[in-house]
Amino acid sequence: MAKIMAVNAGSSSIKFQLLEMPEETVIASGVMERIGLEKGIFTIKYAGKKEETNPVLPTHAEGVQLLLDTLVEKGIVKSLDEISGVGHRVVQGGEYFKDSALVTEDVIQKIQDLADLAPLHNPAHIIGIKAFQKALPNVKQVVVFDTVFHQTMPEEAYMYATPYEWYEKYGIRKYGAHGTSHQYVSQRAAELINKPLKDTKTIVCHLGNGASICAVDGGKSVDTSMGLTPLEGIPMGTRSGNLDPTVVSYICEKEGKTAAEVVNILNKKSGYLGMSGRSNDARDVTAGMEAGDHRCKLTFDVQAKRIVDYIASYYVYMGGCDVIAFTAGMGENLIHLRKNILNRLGVLGVKLDENANNVRAVEQEITTKDSKIRAFIIPTNEEVMIARDTVRIANIK
Ligand code: ADP
Repeated sequence: MAKIMAVNAGSSSIKFQLLEMPEETVIASGVMERIGLEKGIFTIKYAGKKEETNPVLPTHAEGVQLLLDTLVEKGIVKSLDEISGVGHRVVQGGEYFKDSALVTEDVIQKIQDLADLAPLHNPAHIIGIKAFQKALPNVKQVVVFDTVFHQTMPEEAYMYATPYEWYEKYGIRKYGAHGTSHQYVSQRAAELINKPLKDTKTIVCHLGNGASICAVDGGKSVDTSMGLTPLEGIPMGTRSGNLDPTVVSYICEKEGKTAAEVVNILNKKSGYLGMSGRSNDARDVTAGMEAGDHRCKLTFDVQAKRIVDYIASYYVYMGGCDVIAFTAGMGENLIHLRKNILNRLGVLGVKLDENANNVRAVEQEITTKDSKIRAFIIPTNEEVMIARDTVRIANIK
């Protein structure tokens, strides 16, 4: 038995989950938010309780120390020696990382070198890793990359048709994201239909604030909708997804903005927020649609149309599909969006089961028995994948 801490460190927050392995039971979970601000928020759930405090957390280091002290104080662990490994989510692993890795100085340097591709995420992950190294110097740390699962994409799927030197000089290509989630969900899909993973073709729709679609053939990612950065693909909470790149230079000229400013708008003020003019949160846009707001309805229709474009394309690319799986905040909870998507796939023989679809956040089949492709809601579990990889890579018994 081993206790593993799965960590997702952002620039001002640290999400954590402490798992007992190999049972994969969650002993404690929570988040530290507003690190570096006057008043932090520390939420911890354990033994059926949820507690929230407002400590001052000047840096990640104080946050990690508080978390570890709390685990001992509350008797969640008897001593910190019980923690055998820490696994960190890292957004961008570029082409350096084809698997999760044990943290070394060299690995930290490579994550730093990749910061150009993930400027908000990779530096924050390093701060998180260093905070845990300081607090638990004798515990093995492992990094689990969102990009690794997509490193199996064939060249034809990850290359852009741009000058080849851009790839050689700057690594311009598709890397994808949400790999840990796509992997978990596709493995679970094969289990649910009782078919060997190597023979299963799954299209995973990870629909959260950030969203991506992935074609998984025999357990391997063969294509995904996110690209060099998370801006590519389908419309998301605040991101536009695909568009003609000329839009950027056109708006630069019209509004006297720099390319970086326009790209920032495409990342932060577009998608649900930009189209609906209301919110990046699907619940608000749903309320707008239900009240008869045309732009809110259009927001969902544009997104559903684009998601279906990807599903159709991946169906052809894989030569078929056994399962379409919905996961993450919207995939798990937005009944009307799943319906909107699946109803557009009738031509592929997909038949929605309206009753079965009428649920939130449960693992469930949502197509009828005679549907040619089966669809499921599969709540994602990135933490369990991080814990599994930590045990495997650090060889924890
Ligand atoms: P991320 O991890 O990318 O920040 P999430 O996976 O948490 O995002 O998904 C956030 C989205 O899920 C939001 O648009 C939110 O409105 C939607 N969502 C979460 N819970 C519900 C719910 N109960 N009903 C409808 N939408 C929900």
